[in-house]
Amino acid sequence: MTGPVHVVGGGLAGCEAAWQLARAGIPTVLHEMRPVRRTEAHAGDGLAELVCSNSFRSDDWENNAVGLLHEEMRRAGSLILRAADAHQVPAGGALAVDREGFSGAVEAAFAEEPLVEIRREEIAGLPPDDWDQVIIATGPLTSPALAQALQDLTGTEQLAFFDAIAPVVYADSIDFSKAWRQSRYDKPGPAGDAAAYINCPLDRDQYGALIAAMLTGEKTIFKEWEKSTPYFEGCLPVEVMAERGRDTLRFGPMKPVGLTNPYTNQRPHAVVQLRQDNALGTLYNLVGFQTKLKYGEQERVFRMIPGLESARFARLGGLHRNTFLNSPRLLDPLLRLKARPSLRFAGQITGVEGYVESAAIGLLAGRFAAAERQGRPVALPPPTTALGALLAHITGGHLAEGASFQPMNVNYGLLPPLEGDSARGRARKQALSQRALAHLAPWLDAAVC
Ligand SMILES: Cc1cc2nc3c(=O)[nH]c(=O)nc-3n(C[C@H](O)[C@H](O)[C@H](O)COP(=O)(O)OP(=O)(O)OC[C@H]3O[C@@H](n4cnc5c(N)ncnc54)[C@H](O)[C@@H]3O)c2cc1C
Repeated sequence: MTGPVHVVGGGLAGCEAAWQLARAGIPTVLHEMRPVRRTEAHAGDGLAELVCSNSFRSDDWENNAVGLLHEEMRRAGSLILRAADAHQVPAGGALAVDREGFSGAVEAAFAEEPLVEIRREEIAGLPPDDWDQVIIATGPLTSPALAQALQDLTGTEQLAFFDAIAPVVYADSIDFSKAWRQSRYDKPGPAGDAAAYINCPLDRDQYGALIAAMLTGEKTIFKEWEKSTPYFEGCLPVEVMAERGRDTLRFGPMKPVGLTNPYTNQRPHAVVQLRQDNALGTLYNLVGFQTKLKYGEQERVFRMIPGLESARFARLGGLHRNTFLNSPRLLDPLLRLKARPSLRFAGQITGVEGYVESAAIGLLAGRFAAAERQGRPVALPPPTTALGALLAHITGGHLAEGASFQPMNVNYGLLPPLEGDSARGRARKQALSQRALAHLAPWLDAAVC
């Protein structure tokens, strides 16, 4: 006889996973450590507590990737979306919620669900061996004892305690009348490509103006409890490097050595390099440009870089306290730890970013665990759906096989381009969204629990 599936963490991902399991008829135990043990960010004891903003961002499925993810989750019977819809507050095109009402609705759903038992306890180490199916959804503030045990299991390098996110731009918004492709010294990479990077050149004045803008730009401030996280030397924010001296960046990530600007046949004074960020080649990150500049300031300052004047940002930079796995390396396509497949992961700890994305991975983890428990074949969501694209990004779609894996929100750049279609702007987003929902339907039908 098999026991229940255990879900560790009653946040957005864990609650969604437990709900999907219950919908499939699987007995589930949901372990939540609050109020026995608290985190630095959660304020109360409720399940699915929103730790900061009360917004699930855009609800426009036709024109926005997170809106599309909402719609896919609704169609897949998401508890998190159901509770959010029931407790909406006015927020224009965004889905924002009354946080107490939202969390209360999630609690109430479980109170009426006999298949889910809720235990208020910390899982302070690896789960016992006789729990044959576990979903770990303990989030960015996983308790230290469990984080330590995971680090011991996966290796020190494979579990991060902070994210250091450099901005990511859409490749098709880079101006190639100024930028060019070249690797330093034309050195071929493992794939034999000697032009792996996109280079944006700066002359002396442009470099000076960029440094000045970084120094004066408005920054976000570390929370008191984040200040002690030991990451500054290894991964300095770009503006902190700029503070150390006018030329620090020019001898660091902006060094121009080994590069010739084909438009001038000269070595630039400084360079910003962009590296491919996803397997599709639709997204590029600004190498070494992790930053604490405020979002609006990032767009203003980084558009001063020649070639990026009209850049569209798929993700803006940041540095946060965040516990997450090197998922592309550690997890299989069904979110199981390759080294110990009885452990499955969900939520922000898998390297997605945001409330909705975390819940979405919880939804998939719950469905995968349910199918496995029932001996049914598990079908992956098509990569053309927002659910499938997000899953592919964390479990293998990431170009660098985990080498520089950093958390990511859902965005259209994760979806495979439309075949033979030259649609741009809104028309392209709408076509991608319509394709996603069309492809979602047969997957949902086939995966009926
Ligand atoms: C300070 C902060 C602010 C954020 N603000 C936003 C925002 O405004 N908008 C946004 O979209 N995203 C935000 N995020 C990112 C992220 O979307 C949220 O953290 C989101 O809640 C992640 O969902 P989750 O289910 O993975 O983790 P959580 O919602 O954090 O749930 C994890 C749960 O696991 C429990 N837990 C931890 N360890 C154990 C253990 N060992 N045993 C049992 N239970 C355990 C925790 O108490 C918690 O309830 C923020 C993150 C942080 C850290």
